[in-house]
Amino acid sequence: MDNSVTRDTQNLSRQIRFQDSDGKIWFDEQRVLLLQLGALTDFRKEQIETVGLERAKGFFMRLGYSLGKKDAQLALKLAETDDATELLRTGFNLHALKGMVRVEECTLQIDQSDAHFYAEYRLHDSYEAEMFRSELGMQDEPVCWSLVGHASAYTSTLLGREILFKEVNCRGCGDEQCLFVGRPAEEWEDATTYRRYFSSDRIMEELYELQSQISVLRHKIDSESTLGNFRGQSPAYKQVCNLAHKAAPGKVNVLLLGETGVGKELVAKGIHQASERADKAFIAVNCAAIPPDLIESELFGVERGAYTGATQSRPGKFERADGGTIFLDEVIELTPRAQASLLRVLQESEYERVGDSNTRKVDIRVVAATNECLETAVEEGRFRADLFYRLNVYPINIPPLRERREDIPMLIEHFLEKYQAFYSRRVAGLSDMAMRAIMKYEWPGNVRELENIIERGLILTDHDETISAHSLFPTLQMDASQVVSSQGHLIDDDEEDDTDNQNSWIDEALVECGSIEEIENKVIEHALTQANGNVSEAARVLGISRPTLAYRIKKMDQSL
Ligand SMILES: [Zn+2]
Repeated sequence: MDNSVTRDTQNLSRQIRFQDSDGKIWFDEQRVLLLQLGALTDFRKEQIETVGLERAKGFFMRLGYSLGKKDAQLALKLAETDDATELLRTGFNLHALKGMVRVEECTLQIDQSDAHFYAEYRLHDSYEAEMFRSELGMQDEPVCWSLVGHASAYTSTLLGREILFKEVNCRGCGDEQCLFVGRPAEEWEDATTYRRYFSSDRIMEELYELQSQISVLRHKIDSESTLGNFRGQSPAYKQVCNLAHKAAPGKVNVLLLGETGVGKELVAKGIHQASERADKAFIAVNCAAIPPDLIESELFGVERGAYTGATQSRPGKFERADGGTIFLDEVIELTPRAQASLLRVLQESEYERVGDSNTRKVDIRVVAATNECLETAVEEGRFRADLFYRLNVYPINIPPLRERREDIPMLIEHFLEKYQAFYSRRVAGLSDMAMRAIMKYEWPGNVRELENIIERGLILTDHDETISAHSLFPTLQMDASQVVSSQGHLIDDDEEDDTDNQNSWIDEALVECGSIEEIENKVIEHALTQANGNVSEAARVLGISRPTLAYRIKKMDQSL
């Protein structure tokens, strides 16, 4: 064999010609390059840093694959034999000649007749292992990527069927030696995934795809309806957020309308925070809470001696909020004089402190709010018409809680989180009956009332217990069939419904399922499917606590 190897190598090396005249090197009829290993190492390093180890591996495996194919064509052309074993060994010599590696054949079994192939090669001085050992650092997995690609392509091309080589030991990951094993592709279990390294990698397509996903997400975030602590997900809630976000930039006066406790101040603050004034002051004034004879000095400031008790000069709310936003809740309560001063601020951006003749300038965004009808107040002469028109440029109606019931579970979660932290106590959520009572209640005091009730319920509930309906509505005694009516009274659960029209589906469900438990299971299954298996979400939809639902699911699973 030694003789044939020498002959083979001599034959091959004769094919290398340095063509001094035009600076080209030829290997048979293919132009080749002579380049420094160090430069290739730098290049590989950059590849790994740019696209990551997995992708870099793919690049080099494909480089090896392409070289292997070309070498096989060359070997077939120069061969003085058609013996497959000899031709494969020529491949080893080609490798050595190019300075890539010295291959030692451990096992080589070829039987073309019954398609058997098995090979084991030991590799000495692999240029790739050398790169990692000297420069790139040891890896967790074999690194002779191009050599393994080369072996696969070379053998496949020579034998005319797909042979895949894998490196099972590698000096680049700390093994004694590099060891290659080759088998027909169909004998490797992971051939499909492994083969992927040899087909080109559409990294650009993936990047474009990711880019378009990002732009979709960014758009979604921008238009996401969030207003600070004003929370929800109902269409009514989203409508408010959209309007508020559109109003935020610029200086348009906003009038917030809605029942008491719907969260007007939160919306006002949200508008402020989304505006270019966000880093300036936000000052909230409840006009109904200030005595009428003090309201002017509270809003616009006072000079010393303006009236008895004005012992020193002080700025008012408008002065403090200069550059920012002032929120005037219950604006209908302003005295006629205060209304006139407010109109002047809105029209001319100026005012005077009480008892002062100096005119002051102010740059301010006014957000006003009322839970009474301002138009009626205008008709009754309690509110200036010109001020009403000034304030009513951009009205936003905030719906009462009963018109956005789907937001209730999310709000409960939010308040529970808030007060659990505040009182350093954890509870196991709400009992089913408590949840039912809450979902049925009309909430005249809106979100604020809900918050108060949750806080009270939490205080009355022991650590790790569920909040009961009774602790939420303590003055009420209720049994399982009763709920809190829209007016805050206890009624039987079905009293409120227009039962006649609704019984037909119940009949159907009973016939279909046979028992209340079955019906409940069906409903739970449906809610889970709708929530894509998200238990918390499904619990929210069903109006029961997450632990309760989790328990039910477990029970259902056991009975299967
Ligand atoms: Zn190796």
